[in-house]
Amino acid sequence: ATPLSLMVGVGKAAESGVLIRRGESLQQAGAITTVVLDKTGTVTEGAPAVTEVIAAGDEGELLRLAAAAEAGSEHPLASAVLAAARARGITPPKAEGFEAESGRGVTARLDGQALFVGRPDQASLTDDWQQRVETARSRGETPILVTADGVPAGLLIIADPVREDSAAAIRRLHERGIRVALVTGDHETTARAVAGQGGIDTVFAGVPPEAKAERVADLQGGGEVVAMVGDGINDAPALARADVGFAIGSGTDVAIESADITLMRASLHGVAEAVAISRATVRNIK
Ligand code: ADP
Ligand code: MG
Repeated sequence: ATPLSLMVGVGKAAESGVLIRRGESLQQAGAITTVVLDKTGTVTEGAPAVTEVIAAGDEGELLRLAAAAEAGSEHPLASAVLAAARARGITPPKAEGFEAESGRGVTARLDGQALFVGRPDQASLTDDWQQRVETARSRGETPILVTADGVPAGLLIIADPVREDSAAAIRRLHERGIRVALVTGDHETTARAVAGQGGIDTVFAGVPPEAKAERVADLQGGGEVVAMVGDGINDAPALARADVGFAIGSGTDVAIESADITLMRASLHGVAEAVAISRATVRNIK
C-alpha cells in the first residue's frame, strides 16, 4: 500500500478508537495469522472482585490478614482483596517485609506471623477446600489461598467476568481465518473455562510473566505473523516482541508504550477492525 492510502486507513481506524502509531503497523495488521490474548483485563473486564470468602475461623480476621499482605501489591487480584476488606470496614494493618512472588502471590510478616496469599497449589488442603478450588476454576474464577505460618487460614474466590463482546470479536477474527490463543499466568482449568466462554481455541496457562514474550517468539518461529493484545506491565515484553502489539487504552502506560496500536475502547473488536481496514487498504492499492 502507498503511504497515502495507509494514512487514510490510519484515519479511518482512529474513528473507531483504534490508534495506530505508524502506517507500517496497519499494513502488517492484515497479515496477522495468530492473535495472542492476555486473559485478565484483555479478554475479561479486568475488575476482579471477591465473590466468596471461605474461612477456617473468623471471616473478618481472614480478610484482615489477606489485605495486610496484599496492601503492597499492584496486582489486580490485590485490588479485589483490598476492596473486599474495605467493604467490610476493615483497614489493613501494616505488614512488614512485603515481597511479591511473580506469578505466584505475595508474602509478608504481621504480628510475628508469616503470611502468604496466592496460588493454592503448594499447600495441602482438605478435600472440601480442594473441591471448592476446582469448582471455582471450572467456572473461570481464580481461587486464592491465605496461609499464616504455612497453615491454611482461608480461601478467597475471585471472579473477573469475560467482557460481554469478547466472544463476538473473537468470532470475527476466526471468520477471517485467524487463530486465537489465550496466555495467562493463571491455572489451566481457569484459563480453559475463560477460553471456552470467549470461544478461544488455544490456551497457554501457567505462563510466568517473563515467558509471555517467549510464547510469541515460538509462534513466530513456526511461521506465524503474531499479534499480542494486553494491558499489563507483564505484557509489555510480549507486546514489543509481537509483529503487531495492541494495548488496551485503559491499561498500564508501560503496555501502551510497548504497543504499536492502542485500543481506546476496551474491546477486542478493535483488533478485528484493524485487520479489516488493513486488508481493505492493501487490496485497494494492489
Ligand atoms: P495473569 O497472567 O492472569 O495476570 P499472573 O502471572 O500475574 O497472572 O499471576 C498468576 C497467578 O499467581 C494468579 O492467578 C494468582 O493465583 C497468583 N498471584 C499472582 N499475584 C498475586 C497476588 N498479588 N495475590 C494473589 N495471588 C496472586
Ligand atoms: Mg492483563
